[in-house]
Amino acid sequence: MKRTKFVIGNWKMNGLKSSMNIYEGVNKHMLSNKKSSDLNVVICPPFTLINLFSSKKTSKIMIGAQDTHEKESGAYTGSISSQMLSDLGAGYVIIGHSERRQYFGENVKLLADKIIAAQKADLKVIFCIGELKNEIKNRKSVLRKQLKSLPKKLNYKNIIIAYEPVWAIGTGLIPSFDEINSIHLSIRDILKYDLKFSKNVSILYGGSVNPKNASNILSLENVDGALVGGASLNSKDFSNIIDYYT
Ligand code: PEP
Repeated sequence: MKRTKFVIGNWKMNGLKSSMNIYEGVNKHMLSNKKSSDLNVVICPPFTLINLFSSKKTSKIMIGAQDTHEKESGAYTGSISSQMLSDLGAGYVIIGHSERRQYFGENVKLLADKIIAAQKADLKVIFCIGELKNEIKNRKSVLRKQLKSLPKKLNYKNIIIAYEPVWAIGTGLIPSFDEINSIHLSIRDILKYDLKFSKNVSILYGGSVNPKNASNILSLENVDGALVGGASLNSKDFSNIIDYYT
């Protein structure tokens, strides 16, 4: 079985109703491409735009959220549950992004609970892992630890791993292409041998992906797509990245 390819945009805390034009630009570009492709394109806008984007008919883009709450419902003022996200038309959710770990203190127990809640609501989970700059030397053990924090009972078909070196996010820096390829292979080995995952789990690279470096990154044997931050806010740049697969 072939591994599924993904290009996923993470808009972070950006986007107003008027940003529909970015979404429309990417969608138009995809609709105009006659070649068939098994690529999955997902945009994860802020919560406030999920309904607007998912209501769009004739769309080739799937919608995801950037976070979810670990509980199904209840007295958690200001929070959004996975069931609510599903109800709005989201099919995916990012969990474990380094900005959530760093700025919101999200720990491994909380992340595991969020993953369970998301899967219960039929959301596919984009689980982010990655080392800090001062952890590069111990990268493999850092990544193993993060992967081992995944909950035991998982529907592996509905999980995507995004390797995002924290020092590469929004900085313009990236590991060398050879390094990216070999890190992805290590991640696949950890998934297969330590966690008994299927070998078909998609492993995406994230961190300063742009139209210039995308074809080098996406052509690496062990890379199954990209999680894109900054460049996903520009429909031309994001479309250029998607074009590698179509
Ligand atoms: C991200 O935040 O997931 C990300 C990859 O950001 P950027 O592409 O801007 O580095």
